[in-house]
Amino acid sequence: MIRHLKPISALAIALLLTPLAPAVTAKLVTRDGLRDPARVDQARLLGAAAEPQNWMSHGGTFAEQRFSALNQVNEGNVARLGLAWAHEFDTNRGQEATPLVVDGVMYVSTAWSKVFALDARTGQELWRFDPEVPGNHAVFGCCDVVNRGVAVWKGKVFVGTIDGRLIALDAASGKQVWSVATTDPNKAYTITGAPRVFKDKVIIGNGGAEFGVRGYVTAYDTETGRQVWRFYTVPPVPGAGPDGAASDPVMAKAASTWFGTGWHVSGGGGTVWDSMVYDPELDQLYIGTGNGAPWNRKVRSDGKGDNLFLASIVALDPDTGAYRWHYQETPGDSFDFTSTQQMTLATLTIGGVPRKVLMHAPKNGIFYVLDRMTGRLISAKNFVPITWADGVDLATGRPRFAENAFYDAGTKLMLPSSFGAHSWHPMSFSPQTGLVYIPTMQRPVAYKQDPNYHFIEGRQNFALGFEIPGPDAPATGGALIAWDPIAQKVVWRVPQPEVWSAGTLATAGNLVFSGDAHGVFSAYRATDGARLWSFSQQAGIMAGPISYAVDGVQYVAVIAGYGGGVPLMTRDENRPQQAQPMGRMLVFRLNGKGKIADADLTLPPANPPEESFSPDQVRAGAGLYFTHCIFCHGGSVLPDLRRSAALPDRETWKRIVIDGALSSNGMASFAKWLKPEDTEAVRAYVAAEATKLKATEKGPAAP
Ligand code: CA
Repeated sequence: MIRHLKPISALAIALLLTPLAPAVTAKLVTRDGLRDPARVDQARLLGAAAEPQNWMSHGGTFAEQRFSALNQVNEGNVARLGLAWAHEFDTNRGQEATPLVVDGVMYVSTAWSKVFALDARTGQELWRFDPEVPGNHAVFGCCDVVNRGVAVWKGKVFVGTIDGRLIALDAASGKQVWSVATTDPNKAYTITGAPRVFKDKVIIGNGGAEFGVRGYVTAYDTETGRQVWRFYTVPPVPGAGPDGAASDPVMAKAASTWFGTGWHVSGGGGTVWDSMVYDPELDQLYIGTGNGAPWNRKVRSDGKGDNLFLASIVALDPDTGAYRWHYQETPGDSFDFTSTQQMTLATLTIGGVPRKVLMHAPKNGIFYVLDRMTGRLISAKNFVPITWADGVDLATGRPRFAENAFYDAGTKLMLPSSFGAHSWHPMSFSPQTGLVYIPTMQRPVAYKQDPNYHFIEGRQNFALGFEIPGPDAPATGGALIAWDPIAQKVVWRVPQPEVWSAGTLATAGNLVFSGDAHGVFSAYRATDGARLWSFSQQAGIMAGPISYAVDGVQYVAVIAGYGGGVPLMTRDENRPQQAQPMGRMLVFRLNGKGKIADADLTLPPANPPEESFSPDQVRAGAGLYFTHCIFCHGGSVLPDLRRSAALPDRETWKRIVIDGALSSNGMASFAKWLKPEDTEAVRAYVAAEATKLKATEKGPAAP
């Protein structure tokens, strides 16, 4: 029974009133498996807005608006939304994927680059694929072994793996068709982003700028895996000669903006680790590039130069990879202000004139509206408080850097900090409300020079020091905001329980869906932000939701599973620590009656050793801990070392840290970076912290 239809388009209504492709589903999922699945091609993706029952590409359509035209679930009835089904995955690592749904089948990637095909009505697993990523490659990920999604095209499913492969799977069986190594396995490259497909090409980027790599994107032939073109985002080091790549003609121009030698050893960075958008209206491809390597321009480039194409949007010819234009959001980035965040295409009427625009809310905290025909800036305004710039000069398109940006002159409180005002968490745009729904973050961090910096291959290289700001600093917190991209102002704002917000979906039911770090999935009224419905379970949510329909029933889906950059390295001190629940797919429909049983998330107690360590050992260990360990063990996802069963035993500790006894789990050997006495120092520091924790665990005596 379908009620409360609101007119959006005749086609969408027709799709809702007639059962949505029921026959297709029945034919697709047979006793023997899938028949002729993922039949997605250019024509179908061009018309994706006309089949809202499917979510066939990462951002919903080529324009990546993350808007669903379905309105069976709407502001009038969303209170009746309930769980249709849930599917438990096999890991408690971070889940960041946007699932795809094509003709009743859901394709989704999970942590460790695994791929699952599920019956979109029931959640029944149809097949699974495990690329068997070597666990020790996890050490090269800044931000967990996450994966943000797959692409589908003509019966194949494509996934990038954390160890740098791009793999094509048979959509019917989940069997591998081809696999290519897209990165040098000896370098600290990772892939966490979703591939994109257009015109028989599948394109993939990579991450790893902190660890010392050079960014690029590569297009491959969907049928064979043959490389079609590659575009480097930063120049080769002087003397290395041309790359023989599509970027060659523009590399001299890029090189003229780099100085000194600091970047020669660290690769320069500029990795394209998330957003890549194909624009069918202009037949061009946009890539968003990352930060410099190392972060500090003083070290990287003698403190000068724009360092093209860091922190930029670059438009390319989709067939050849040839450069068309670029817009650099943070010239000479010295802050980890990646511009890799989601790019959304739309036509907005600005000053009475329809403009083909690209909308962007990158880490640096400024909302950009670009003319995507020329790359020229139309408007820019900060969407959160920022301390590094006083705005953007509309004539030149360049930011007006504030005094506060120059931390070489003293410690500076950064807003946003490297965590970003907005990171990979998908935003959405509703053509109905004209608003962009952005998961925003505010986490102030003080930056200062690091006089002792030297490059360490395969570890995170910042060339700056950090300080946790004092009590006077602006508060840390996340908020979902509705942003008017024409007026460039906040329309409504809903604070979130933690700084690490979750992706959003806008729907024609005048709804915005988003999860939160505590596992609550909510529906907000798109026009005013009123919370109309929520569902609570234990797994924290970060990913972007989608909506689809099968057999005339609209579903809303989101993957739950907490992890990623901030959760791995920071704990929420206001919240009791608990073990991580497994990741799971959550799917909702009207009158859904599904339930999820709570798991026991009790953590083991603090486990300090009996022995004592010297203050020098503890001090040395603290330095090593903050260089090597905190990025994964400082948070609430991976084992809290203070509670580790290995902590009291010197030999076990060494077997793990030096010999790599747990490398298949993702805990690589640190023998390259730590000597045995170093690991003992780290143990000394962790033991001291465990002793403190134990004292708090005793708690007040019972009355
Ligand atoms: Ca970065």
